[in-house]
Amino acid sequence: MRFVTTVIIGAGQSGLAMSKHLSDRGIDHVVLERGEVANSWRTERWDSLRLLTPNWQSRLPGFAYSGPDPDGYMTMPETIAYLKAFADHSRAPVQTHTTVTRVSRLGGGYVVSTDRGTFACRILVIASGACNVPVVPALAARLPVSASLTPFQYRSPAQLPAGGVMVVGASATGVQLAREIRASGCDVLLCAGEHVRLPRVYRGRDIKWWMEATGMMDVRYDQIDDLDRARRLPSLQLLGTPERATIDLNTLRAAGVEVVGKLVAVEGRRVKFSGSLANCCALADLKMNRLLESIDAWVEAKGEAGGFGPACRFEPTRLGANPLLELDVRAAGINTVIWATGFRPDYSWLDVPVLDQKGRLRHTGGVVASPGMYVMGLPFMRRRKSSFIDGAGEDAADLAAHMGTYLTRAAA
Ligand SMILES: Cc1cc2nc3c(=O)[nH]c(=O)nc-3n(C[C@H](O)[C@H](O)[C@H](O)COP(=O)(O)OP(=O)(O)OC[C@H]3O[C@@H](n4cnc5c(N)ncnc54)[C@H](O)[C@@H]3O)c2cc1C
Repeated sequence: MRFVTTVIIGAGQSGLAMSKHLSDRGIDHVVLERGEVANSWRTERWDSLRLLTPNWQSRLPGFAYSGPDPDGYMTMPETIAYLKAFADHSRAPVQTHTTVTRVSRLGGGYVVSTDRGTFACRILVIASGACNVPVVPALAARLPVSASLTPFQYRSPAQLPAGGVMVVGASATGVQLAREIRASGCDVLLCAGEHVRLPRVYRGRDIKWWMEATGMMDVRYDQIDDLDRARRLPSLQLLGTPERATIDLNTLRAAGVEVVGKLVAVEGRRVKFSGSLANCCALADLKMNRLLESIDAWVEAKGEAGGFGPACRFEPTRLGANPLLELDVRAAGINTVIWATGFRPDYSWLDVPVLDQKGRLRHTGGVVASPGMYVMGLPFMRRRKSSFIDGAGEDAADLAAHMGTYLTRAAA
């Protein structure tokens, strides 16, 4: 058994940012990674994906994007190269191709079993990702289609069997896949429940610029009333393209995608859609307009209106006269369903009683309910930006400081 003060599980941005802060504090550690650095970006994303966050917002501790296109959006190979360069730059002690199979408590610390040996540590950092497993509703098993895919299995339209495609879910993943598959010439039906609509660019700036400038992304977990809801909000309908295109249900309908309500039932070949589509769209429009109002108010308060484009509002979401409420998938020629219905973490290897009834880690701002255990990268973990590349550095700095105090107290 090898002893290290800290074991970090996962070499994505979260584990690497934590490693950098531990190195800066002189806390010895190892980063255990089942694949290569940036494994999730290498193996769990579709081919055409680009980051939704602009390049200037790819900022890890001491290592910001410095290329020629700060307002662009990285492709997956560029994202992988950026994270690998950060790992090299910070000399992160990553042990690749090492899968953690079990973590249990031992005395004042933890035993970490892997397929390449066992580690004992005082501190454990779970940086194994928030999106390890695609969430697929139980009714998926009953749908009579040739191909039933999760976003992890989808790579490009070329792999799909001939016929129509139903994409379930209209958050970031669902809208992007619907757009790409429709552009390849397939008929696409998009099932949309609650969603978050935003323009890519507003008043001449990227929406992510506004969200940062107005302080939204820095809002802390202990500053908001309904943290549980904030952590469960759908991802933003955004797309990263060189043209900085906006993606929403209007642009998808204009491209020929048929939009229906949330998929609620499967009965043989027939599927049923919720009648709440109009309400979901009205709510998304309302929330978008509130955000734009808050941006306008910020501009006015700063007295900087001259520096930006004019305020404007976008057309409300247009729906067809009678959105479908049910459909025979065979008769409609639908041969593929893609479940863009969210992701969840995988803690199947964690043998410490720190999960609640829903299988979520019990933690306060990343400090897990077991001494010396921490987590990184969960949605709204310490800040609204916690699950983004740009959020990893500040969270890691906070938690590394907490660890420093923990170790000092333990030694006293
Ligand atoms: C489709 C998609 C698009 C996204 N787009 C953006 C974006 O544009 N901008 C942005 O800022 N964020 C984006 N995100 C959010 C976030 O940045 C990513 O999910 C990112 O991968 C999270 O980084 P992480 O380090 O927390 O976790 P991960 O990148 O998932 O890293 C976790 C690592 O842990 C390893 N691991 C897991 N289990 C084990 C084990 N048992 N043993 C050893 N190793 C293990 C994995 O192999 C992986 O390398 C996106 C997320 C998704 C799903």
